[in-house]
Parts: sequence; structure tokens; C-alpha cells
Amino acid sequence: MNVLVVGGAGYIGSHAVRLLTRAGHNTWVYDNLVFGHPQAVPQARLIEGDLLDRRRLVSVMREHEIEAVMHFAAFAFVGESVVDPAKYYQNNVVGSLNLLEAMREAGVLKIVFSSTTATYGEPKVMPITEDVPQRPINPYGFSKLVVEQALADYALAYEFSYAALRYFNAAGASPQGDIGEDHDPETHLIPLVLQVALGQRSHITIYGDDYPTPDGTCIRDYVHVDDLATAHLAALEQLGPGVALKLNLGTGRGASVREVIEACRRVTGHKIPAEVGLRRPGDPPELVADSTLAQSTLSWQPQYTDIESIVSTAWGWHSKHPRGYRS
Ligand code: UDP
Repeated sequence: MNVLVVGGAGYIGSHAVRLLTRAGHNTWVYDNLVFGHPQAVPQARLIEGDLLDRRRLVSVMREHEIEAVMHFAAFAFVGESVVDPAKYYQNNVVGSLNLLEAMREAGVLKIVFSSTTATYGEPKVMPITEDVPQRPINPYGFSKLVVEQALADYALAYEFSYAALRYFNAAGASPQGDIGEDHDPETHLIPLVLQVALGQRSHITIYGDDYPTPDGTCIRDYVHVDDLATAHLAALEQLGPGVALKLNLGTGRGASVREVIEACRRVTGHKIPAEVGLRRPGDPPELVADSTLAQSTLSWQPQYTDIESIVSTAWGWHSKHPRGYRS
């Protein structure tokens, strides 16, 4: 298939691009390189362009006879979305609607969309199934939910076929260690803990240890980026008339902040000092996926099921690239 991967030079997108290419798909990356890294994707496949540029999107889709889109391009800092919601509605909502209109104009009706656990807000029941009500608690979560709704409406009215994949905590890196996570600023737990092991930070701050969890720290479902990529490929290959998928992508196993830090200590052999700080506003105590539906629908099984194996691949990347793609 001729596939346009929008936001394909980013963390999850670049891993998906690699897998799509290996699976024999003719893959093009469309990225404005605000957060994406040109080094993360094959140069000959990279088209620099913006999500808001509809004319260019249409012409790229026509020129390369695109048959399906994967859409990873988004701003994804929860805290920033609270202080600057306009940025999130503009890029994540207006940008995505623009992409859907460009698809309509170019006659491309298949899309795999990056959605998120943040669309669920703070669900009371764990693990989270897809029929848990989606009640986001921040503009980032709302921006993704609006696009999910647009996809459902476009599917009904314009014969779009889509998969909205709701990621839990994307983590890890390609086992070759040549592509991986590189955000600026970095806010995610695993890369920050590994920066302590690299001597770039004195310690890691645990955002609260008084949560109602066994060790008092927040529990998340860390899912390997290559497992996410595999699910994207499987979803893409299922798209067709009448197909609309809404699926949780997680391992079904939670790890606490303390367990993540312990895993990083074992993998790196570094002491990794930790200090307990204040809670981060908006952090639910526990978010764990029930991804039974994704597993059966996509015949998908996460290959990395324990936090230590995920951290090992992250360490493979960060230890070889201590300054990310600038290394
Ligand atoms: N966290 C932490 N210290 C940090 C960064 C994150 O204790 O320096 C915690 C955070 O409160 C959350 C978990 O680690 O419970 C995962 O946070 P991350 O930002 O990686 O992902 P999120 O769950 O926000 O998508």
C-alpha cells in the first residue's frame, strides 16, 4: 500500500515507518520537523510540510497515489495544553480536520489515528476497557477526543474507514538502538530516570508517594513503541469499507514509578538517587489498559510484557545517544 505517515519523524511515528517499510509498504513521511527528527527516517522518504497546509497535503497524496494515512502529528504535553489550549486546539483539532479534508479531496479514505488514554480522564474502574466513558480532564485529551468523534462522523457520512488507537504509556526504543525517544523538553519518566544514570541529572523526582497504590506512587501501563508500531500495521491492513476500530493499546500490566526506577537501576547498574516531590496536577493514581479487544481484533500480542525489557531497549538508545539525535 502507498502510505502517508503524518508526523512520521517523531518518536512513535519513526518506529511505525520502519515497520511499514519492512512489511513492504511504500511509505512516505510528512512532517513539519517541529518535534520530528529527520535522522529518524530515510531521507528519500521525508517530505517537509505542515498539517495546516491543505493544498500541499492534497498534492502530496495525489503525487504519491496515497491509499492510506497514519496520523501521528500532535502536540502531547498535558501541562502545556492547560496553559496554552489554543495551541492544542489549533494543531491537534484544526490540523487533523484539515488533514481529513485533504484526504477527502484526494479520495483517500483510510486512516490510522493516534489517540490516547487521556481521552478517558480519570476512570474509576481498572483495567480500562474501550467502553469506559471518555471524559478527558485536560485540553490535550479533549483535542484527541474531538478527532475521534470527527472520524466516527466521517466514517458514517463519507465512507471513511479508521482505527483510533488509544495508547497507554509509549516507552522503549528500537532494539538496534538507532532510533528512540528524544523530546525537548523531556517530561517522560523513563528517559528522565535514564538521564540520571547518564549523569545528566542529579536525581529523579517522584511526583508524589501518597497515592492509593501499593507503594504510594502512580501506576502506568508502559507499552513498547515497537508493539505500538505492530498494532498500527495490523490495523492498517484491516481497514476497508465499514471498518471502524477503537482500541486500547497497552500490556495490561501496570508498573509504579518506584518499580520503573528499580528497573532502571537494574538495567543500568547506576544507583539513581530518587527524591519524593509534590504530586503533578492531573495525574490519576492508576491507568492500566484492558487491551483484550485489540489483541483479538488485530491478532496482536505485545512482545515486551515486563518493564525491565522495555527499559533495556530505552537504555540501548539513550546510552548510545546521550544527547538524542544531536549525539
Ligand atoms: N513521573 C515522576 N517523575 C517525573 C516524571 C514522571 O514521578 O520526573 C511520574 C508521573 O507522575 C506519572 C508517571 O511518572 O505518574 C509517568 O509519567 P509520564 O510523564 O512518563 O507519562 P504520563 O503518564 O504523564 O503520560
